[in-house]
Amino acid sequence: MIWMALTGGIASGKTTVAGFFSDAGVTVVSADKLAHDAIAPGSPGATDVRRVFGDGVFDEAGQVDRAKLGALIFADGTGNLKRQLEAIIHPQVRRQSEFERKRLEARGDEIAVYEIPLLFEKNLIAEFDSIITVAISSELQVERLMARSGLTKEQAYARIQAQFPQDQKIQGADFVIWNDGDLKRLRDQTEQIVASLRTTPPHGRRR
Ligand code: ATP
Repeated sequence: MIWMALTGGIASGKTTVAGFFSDAGVTVVSADKLAHDAIAPGSPGATDVRRVFGDGVFDEAGQVDRAKLGALIFADGTGNLKRQLEAIIHPQVRRQSEFERKRLEARGDEIAVYEIPLLFEKNLIAEFDSIITVAISSELQVERLMARSGLTKEQAYARIQAQFPQDQKIQGADFVIWNDGDLKRLRDQTEQIVASLRTTPPHGRRR
């Protein structure tokens, strides 16, 4: 099975592309979803979050309130709380993504995609056979981020600037999907990648 990483900057279009992969019959596993599941109500991760961060970061339904958690982490200048949260979430995400990869391989899938926003930041490229970066012009990225989040232009720029540079994500990719056009163009590019992987699987795999 070809285990593909799908990455790109904030609001670049990763999730939209992931949907087009699903439409093309390719299963997508989301690192963000696994991270959510790792601290879902009743999970061992949720118990650990309560131990480290207290009852105050939970809402009435027993869900971790990510905004409150984020505020605590942001206010902690030492980075210690962030490390503690990552120590709770990351091992579980890693176990679960491995489990999913093996499950999809065992059932005979030819291609599977792992949507992982922080692929380059976390230096995980060696775990994949091939890498797709969704790229976008900075003007459109700001526009789409503002439209989705309600951030001001300055805030949107600041979020983008704080990320790993897109150029490096492009250079490190085997496939680049440019999302400067409309959704049809985006879907076409995704379908072309699926078709090319089905006819010519990548040589010299990274894993
Ligand atoms: P993040 O990682 O920040 O959550 P993302 O990379 O997954 O974002 P999406 O959520 O897919 O990005 O797209 C960001 C926003 O831009 C969404 O509101 C989406 O509907 C919109 N969008 C994506 N591609 C296009 C396009 N080609 N034309 C118009 N809108 C688009």
